[in-house]
Amino acid sequence: MITSNQQGESPRMAVDTLGRPLRALRVSVTDRCNLRCQYCMPEEEYVWLPRETLLTFEEIVRLTNIFTSLGVDKVRITGGEPLLRKDLPALISLLRQNSKIKDIAVTTNGILLKEQAQSLYEAGLHRVTVSLDTLKADRFKALTKRNTFSQVLDGIDTVRAIGFQDLKLDTVAMQGINDDELIDLIEFGKDVDGEVRFIEYMDVGGATDWSADKVLSCESILQILSQHYGLIEPIIEDSWAPAKRFRLSDGTRFGIIASTTLPFCSTCDRSRLTADGLWYLCLYAKTGIDLRQPLRDGATEKELRALLESTWQARADRGAEERKELERVDTRGRFVEIERLRQDPHLEMHARGG
Ligand code: SAM
Ligand code: SF4
Ligand code: SF4
Repeated sequence: MITSNQQGESPRMAVDTLGRPLRALRVSVTDRCNLRCQYCMPEEEYVWLPRETLLTFEEIVRLTNIFTSLGVDKVRITGGEPLLRKDLPALISLLRQNSKIKDIAVTTNGILLKEQAQSLYEAGLHRVTVSLDTLKADRFKALTKRNTFSQVLDGIDTVRAIGFQDLKLDTVAMQGINDDELIDLIEFGKDVDGEVRFIEYMDVGGATDWSADKVLSCESILQILSQHYGLIEPIIEDSWAPAKRFRLSDGTRFGIIASTTLPFCSTCDRSRLTADGLWYLCLYAKTGIDLRQPLRDGATEKELRALLESTWQARADRGAEERKELERVDTRGRFVEIERLRQDPHLEMHARGG
């Protein structure tokens, strides 16, 4: 279905088979990363996307402009580690020329933020989300296989000093790994004026170490926090954002992204573009739509728009809900076998962007 505005102008918002609009686009700019987070890239070596297949900034902007003509108004730059992509501020400047984009954010592990935050800010980046799973340097090293924790803290300080608004700190909450740090993370969030969002550990491709007993559920997170902080009030919002938000009695806000235990596919307006131009309609989708080939073969804007429109209209994906349904029959095994991940790196979380 395509809705049109009241003046009867050309169609402006694509809607899928479950009534979900095409609104938020996550653009991965690289599949490479300078960390090896246990829940995302547990291996040291991966099959990387060939360099010549990576979309140029011009190609990313051209595709994004077609997406925005169909209703996308939020763009999140991700990866891999997006700050590893050379000249990222140049991409932000180009995207800012599109007035239909109301919000451009970057999700980063923070390591290169100290060097790049100022130029990203000057390029017009609206918001930064930093992934932060622990406040302990030795635990950071164990979780990421790298000894760069202090750089992440420096990056967060720099973002604050520059004056970015609406800083978010994303924590993958894991049973027996960082469940003893939830309160410290909330307190750290207060200190740096950042909103903490706890993400349930997901069994997406790449998360080959996942097991149900490592998931710290939304319910457990709330229980741990309420034992310390007392009453926690849910914030009622008319929002399609993935995080449920809550307020502590002192007014501190935080979020929980309960993708595993309380999936929210019915309000999912997000899709993902990989660094080499495959379009994924769901984090759990096993195949993507190749946009690079038609783009490089000279497809017109009209043709590309028709491809995006018809693909979104046929979308019925609800991957996390389907994974959850498997629990009823006790068959929630591994999402993708390691061999298949090696054959198709697009199945990795770091390739399609979290
Ligand atoms: N490298 C950047 C970063 O870490 O912020 C951006 C890409 S990363 C794939 C995006 C987000 O996905 C991160 O916040 C990360 O914690 C999250 N993520 C990766 N694997 C996950 C998993 N198995 N379950 C839940 N979240 C995961
Ligand atoms: Fe960690 Fe992000 Fe790198 Fe994945 S892409 S290993 S989550 S820093
Ligand atoms: Fe959206 Fe797929 Fe995630 Fe469900 S599992 S919220 S459909 S990306």
